[in-house]
Amino acid sequence: MQKTEIIGLSKEELSLFLEEMGEKPYRVKQLWQWLYFKGVRSFDDMTNLSKDLRLKLDEKFVLTRPKIVTEQVSKDKTHKWLLEFSDGERVETVYIPELDRGAVCISTQVGCAMGCKFCHTGSQKLTRNLTAGEIVSQFMVARDAYGEWPSPTNETRYLSNIVVMGMGEPLQNKENVIKALNILSDGDGIAISRRRITMSTCGIVPEINSVLEQTGVRLAISLHAPTDEIRTELMPINKVYNIAQILRACQTYQQKDGSRYITFEYLMLDGINDSSDHAQELVRILKNNKIRATFNLIPFNPWPGCEFKPSKPENIKKFADILNKAGFACPVRVARGQDILAACGQLKSKKQG
Ligand code: SAH
Ligand code: SF4
Repeated sequence: MQKTEIIGLSKEELSLFLEEMGEKPYRVKQLWQWLYFKGVRSFDDMTNLSKDLRLKLDEKFVLTRPKIVTEQVSKDKTHKWLLEFSDGERVETVYIPELDRGAVCISTQVGCAMGCKFCHTGSQKLTRNLTAGEIVSQFMVARDAYGEWPSPTNETRYLSNIVVMGMGEPLQNKENVIKALNILSDGDGIAISRRRITMSTCGIVPEINSVLEQTGVRLAISLHAPTDEIRTELMPINKVYNIAQILRACQTYQQKDGSRYITFEYLMLDGINDSSDHAQELVRILKNNKIRATFNLIPFNPWPGCEFKPSKPENIKKFADILNKAGFACPVRVARGQDILAACGQLKSKKQG
């Protein structure tokens, strides 16, 4: 009999399995805590479950982590793992530390079908979606590495945030992403608050609000251009869902809750989208649509073979000033982990050759 991967099953699914095994429903909470609060890696370690149940679990399920193929730590302490799943497919996961906290950047697909021109991942064709378990286990690998099982209660938690900004487009793998985010934010287990999880999308408009409703996480949109003309050049998906449609989805999201802010990610590409006119046009479309947002200006991270150059620092500053003056907070992101190709858009996992 083929065993089932236990990481990635919802509480409801686990309850059903336990029921089939003739176990009481409350066992699911114990099992869940072992898996996601204590982070044990063997059924044998689940000492408050009977020997008999542990054996039954072991017969039915596998409890593993993805294999760590390589692990690199950059000069600025950014940590990158190349992980391999049971079928040999690989993704990258990155931890970006700040002083007393940090975000784990997780992937949702092997490759990406969206083909954004500036993105290294986009140059690697989509191989497959990750399962919910594969999405969740990326965070678990990071927690293993930093020894944060069980989660500290009053001490600092270094792995405090999750950004779904690794390889792949999360809204092209909707079901598994929803399931994974609900496991990661479940208070009995890994318990990363929904407000500390941000999902970034290139703008698959019809899925945006349904996924946010079902997960409660925060929204980031990869905007990268103020006009459809420029955006379509950079991101082919803009031919299917244009800027006006994206902004309408943003309005729907904010109408439901006045405190919701959206992060617009904006890649600064020299001579393409980084002039003062572009900044003013951005301000205009956001004000016209009454969108509350902050910007994340991302310096372009070059990768071998790409056609773009990063904007000049003085242009980035001018651009940021215009947005700031118009009332849009606009931190310029500092590229992290560049020396190990761990920065935004540099992830790529295909075996070369
Ligand atoms: N597919 C999703 C999430 C992954 S991409 C999305 O597109 O939003 C995560 C972020 O990295 C996006 O904002 C993306 O536009 C940005 N990015 C891609 N290539 C980059 C590069 N070369 N330099 C800097 N950021 C890049
Ligand atoms: Fe895919 Fe996002 Fe890269 Fe575009 S930017 S190719 S959507 S991972």
